[in-house]
Amino acid sequence: MSRDSTRRRKVYEGKAKVLFEGPEPGTLIQYFKDDATAFNNQKQGVITGKGVLNNRISEFLMERLASIGIPTHFVRRLNMREQLVREVEIIPIEVVIRNVVAGSLAKRFGIEEGEALPRSIVEYYYKSDELEDPLVTEEHIAAFAWASYQEIDEMLNLALRINDYLSGLFMGAGLRLIDFKVEFGRHWDEDEMQIILADEISPDSCRLWDVLTNEKLDKDRFRRDLGRVEEGYQEVARRLGILPDAGPRDLKGPEAVQ
Ligand code: UDP
Repeated sequence: MSRDSTRRRKVYEGKAKVLFEGPEPGTLIQYFKDDATAFNNQKQGVITGKGVLNNRISEFLMERLASIGIPTHFVRRLNMREQLVREVEIIPIEVVIRNVVAGSLAKRFGIEEGEALPRSIVEYYYKSDELEDPLVTEEHIAAFAWASYQEIDEMLNLALRINDYLSGLFMGAGLRLIDFKVEFGRHWDEDEMQIILADEISPDSCRLWDVLTNEKLDKDRFRRDLGRVEEGYQEVARRLGILPDAGPRDLKGPEAVQ
């Protein structure tokens, strides 16, 4: 981690990111690590360069979403691994949207991965490491006051809009958005509270398959030991046209011949 980031006050450290106090009240700095975990921390590893790529990929996707009116916590990217974000009160729910059967859905119902769903499925998981993020219903969310029905409705609407937009965006890059997870937070502006998109959107939180070959280009390469893990993240960044400014694999310009 850079000297700059060690000097700042750490607010929170997660598996793949660190949050530091921001330069002004109401802001935070989100630092992207190369660390990866899967299966509730049972599998741990490092994906070299992942943090740099996820910082760029999440910036790109959040900016595009903002351009269609989705409120997000993203303010601006600060450097290779850090971005300035608005401080929110995170709603402890992971909202998962699925377009194609994969992962835990395939396992839970014994269905083969890859079957396109006739309509998108929305699932909610309660964020709790001890409980291993259990699947919950709207009833649980409201009864335990993790979010109100109005907030659930808002999250659902935003998640479906995000899904429609990102499905098209990724399709244009030759990628199928199989499923993804988003998190939301409460943001206060004066006395007004708004639910906004928080956390990140990256190959850590999305399943992305090549449209032609169904090759997996996301964190499943790590989870399932498929090899060429770094290359999966790089390929997604390359297809979105956003490889980092510098680095050995910066192939942005026509002059970048290898
Ligand atoms: N996901 C995530 N964080 C989690 C759990 C799931 O980002 O803690 C994402 C995951 O990358 C996939 C989608 O949510 O794109 C659905 O995941 P699933 O329920 O199939 O769980 P998994 O296979 O990861 O156990």
